[in-house]
Amino acid sequence: MTTLDYIVEMNRRGYQLMEQYAAIILKKMLTCKPCGYVDLASPAAIGIGGIIYNYDGRVFGSDEGRMLAACGDTRFLMGDLRSDTYEELFTKSDLLDVIWRTMCEGVPGCCDCAFQPWCGAAPVFHYATQCDVVGHKPTSEFCRRNMAIMTYLVELMEANAEIQQLFERWAQV
Ligand code: SF4
Repeated sequence: MTTLDYIVEMNRRGYQLMEQYAAIILKKMLTCKPCGYVDLASPAAIGIGGIIYNYDGRVFGSDEGRMLAACGDTRFLMGDLRSDTYEELFTKSDLLDVIWRTMCEGVPGCCDCAFQPWCGAAPVFHYATQCDVVGHKPTSEFCRRNMAIMTYLVELMEANAEIQQLFERWAQV
């Protein structure tokens, strides 16, 4: 039994419990509402879904980029509050190039994938694990995980009308 199966079973017994990542994906699958989840955005939400101000004044396009810098790699550093203007923060690094390159609709692998409208880009993850902001999707853990989760969610809904109704409720939260 998977964790999701267990949570579904809890709901069947009357205890209302929601699996958050499944609910985020279900919102994308079953509604027209934006889910607001930066790792499932196309293009990547880095720098446009939010920016991260570090305690020392450095500015990053995402929290993962900030964490990578803490490990010594400043690949996703946008600039510094103490020396850069607002315009410079968004233009001095290759942030715009990363955003342009991570539009799933045009990315090898993703452009032909049935899950693409529900998926995202995760450039920092792919850079950290595959040294490339786009990533090689057939060997990407991000891709493998999301593909498995989305497939399983669809299978559960197709197999059981009660689960479908539960998932429709999760999608509306
Ligand atoms: S499941 Fe994989 S190939 Fe499909 S859109 Fe997501 S990352 Fe791209």
